[in-house]
Order: sequence, then C-alpha cells, then structure tokens
Amino acid sequence: MKQHVAILGSTGSIGTQALEVIKANKDHFEVEVLTSYNNAELLIQQGKEFLPNAVVIGDEKKYNLVKEALQTHQIKVYAGEEALAQIVEMDSINIVLTALVGYAGLKPTLNAIRSGKHIALANKETLVVAGELVTSLAKEKGVNIYPVDSEHSAIFQCMAGEWDNKIEKIYLTASGGPFRGRDKHFLSKVKKEEALKHPNWEMGSKITIDSATLMNKGLEMIEAKWLFGLNPDQIDVIVHPQSIIHSIVQFEDGSMKAQMGLPDMKLPIQYALGYPKRLKSSFKRFDFLNYPTLTFEKIDTETFRNLALAITALQRGGNMPCIINAANEVAVTAFLKDKVGFLQMSDVIEDCMERISFISKPSYEDYVLTDTETRRLATELLPA
Ligand code: MN
Repeated sequence: MKQHVAILGSTGSIGTQALEVIKANKDHFEVEVLTSYNNAELLIQQGKEFLPNAVVIGDEKKYNLVKEALQTHQIKVYAGEEALAQIVEMDSINIVLTALVGYAGLKPTLNAIRSGKHIALANKETLVVAGELVTSLAKEKGVNIYPVDSEHSAIFQCMAGEWDNKIEKIYLTASGGPFRGRDKHFLSKVKKEEALKHPNWEMGSKITIDSATLMNKGLEMIEAKWLFGLNPDQIDVIVHPQSIIHSIVQFEDGSMKAQMGLPDMKLPIQYALGYPKRLKSSFKRFDFLNYPTLTFEKIDTETFRNLALAITALQRGGNMPCIINAANEVAVTAFLKDKVGFLQMSDVIEDCMERISFISKPSYEDYVLTDTETRRLATELLPA
C-alpha cells in the first residue's frame, strides 16, 4: 500500500529533498499535498511534476498566480495561513512531513495529529515549544511521530527491536559547526556569510545559524526529551566533527548502539516516510578508508552560550523552551539582516528568559501568549 504524503514546506531544503526521495520511490509514495509560504514559482513547478491533490500558498497575494498555473492540472489551490493549518485534515493523507521552519510548525502539526495523521517531524521547534502538548495528543490519537532530524532518526533506528529495553542515556553527536574551537573574541566579529558555511550539512539558513551558535544542539536535546521520554540528565552531547556517527543510545547493560553513514538528510527523510521498511536507495555509500579517523571532543558551553541557555531551559521545562525558541527566532532573523552580532544573540535570549513570566504547566493559549510576548520583548531588546 502506498503512503499518501502531505509535505508542509515543500519548497524548503527538507521539502525539496523529500520530493527527491519520493521521485525515486514512486511505487511507495503518492504526493497528496504540497505547501509553501511564499515560493510560488517552485510550488507551481512541483505541482506540475508531482500532481498532488492540492497545494497551498501561504501568501494570499500569490493565489491567482498559482491557481492559473495549475488549473489545467486539476490541482486544488488554496491560500493563506488558515489553509496552511487546515489542509492536513484532508482524508486522503496518511502521513504529514512537517518541514516548516520555527514556531509556525506548531499549529499545523497539532491539527494533523488531531485528525489522526502520522507525523514525519522535521520541524524540531514544534517539540521544543510544546513537547508535552504534542506528545500527549499524539498518544491520545494513536499517532506516531517519526523523527526526521538526523540525530533523532539515529536514536530511533537504534531503538528498532529495543522498545522494551530501557535507555540509560543517549549521546547526540554535534559537528561543532563552522566555529568549532574558536573563542569569544573571534565570535564577536563573525558575519553571517561565515556562519552560513556549515562544514558537513546542506541546510536552510535558520538551522545553519543555529548550528553555528550550537543552539541547534540545545533544541535537539529538548526534542529528544519528548521523542524518547527522557530526563534531562539522560541526554548528553558529544562533538564529532566528521558527522558520520549520527547519534548513540546506551542501554542499561552498558551496550551502546550507534547509527552511522555519510551525512545526507535524504536518508532520515526516507526512513521516516518508509518506516518500518528500509527502502533501497542509491545514496552515496560510506567508505572507511576515506575516514581512517573518527574523533570526539567535549562540547564548549562556555564559548557557545546559546547551548548553555538551552540546557537551562531543558532543565526548567514549562514555557522556558518556548521562550528561548521565540527569542532565538527573533535573534537569528536579526543576525541574518546584520542587525545584531553573533554573541549578542545570546544576550537577547538570556534577557527574555529572565523577564518573561515563567509558567510551569502551560496550556496551548499560554504557549501562544509566551511566544507573542517573547517576540515583542526580543524585538525591543535588539539594537535600533
Ligand atoms: Mn540535527
């Protein structure tokens, strides 16, 4: 039986790679829905190639453009934020790949779970912001959440056949990003062009900056807590600059399982969409002789303060991860516009953590309010 897939954010980095996976596995997948916030040109091109049941363009001004381009193909076209959130309720969808960036992924993901769709989760911010809400709703609805994030996919792959065995701890591997080994003096002067050059992974700009500040690893620790039901002290990070080992599970007998391979996001995407099957692929294979040495280092939370702040948020829980996420989204956007320095991003986040009211058991409305309040404050804190 084919999987009928909806891709939220089909024109982004994960979305386009997911479509490559689908194209190579036409017997297994059918594209039901594609959405894009504002890349009408690519959405139209994808619509013509994959002939989904429906497409959604977030920007309502581009509705006519998309509608006219796709009407001869009998593809339904919708526009606007509400349509983006609601399209996942369509009956013909089995699985929703959430490849949106940031907080914007929360509402559509909750809607998809509520309507009983399995989730291939590429939007880690959804679990960072509201992990308790999302995972408890998934449990109630009998919905599976398959991780697409490479580290979490690695843990998930290591857990195959092990679900009755307790995890003692996990190690999330971190490449260390483009500024591994650098000091604060160096970081105070870096520009976005340098931060956007990731040594191993090809990704969107938001996550690439998060990888440079190590905030990405902090968000991933919070994501892991919810995906695998772990306590903060069971989640460790180890720097592994080659990005060949994607993460490690340590069981109660001391045995460790790791998942490895060349860094290519198409593999975790394909594993999530094809689960429990491993579909044949033509991805480039790993050659040991090209990597005679795999190395490991301690993570530097002194220099990379965003990671230390995220660990604090992981430990405090409540709406604290929502606060750091919102402050970080504002800070990263400002950094990408050259409006704030690399190290000042941490100052903005830390100020927000101190000044936004802490809520230990937030409701959905509390998260929405926390997000709005934090964005307002973070924007005020930015240099004019
Ligand atoms: Mn990752």
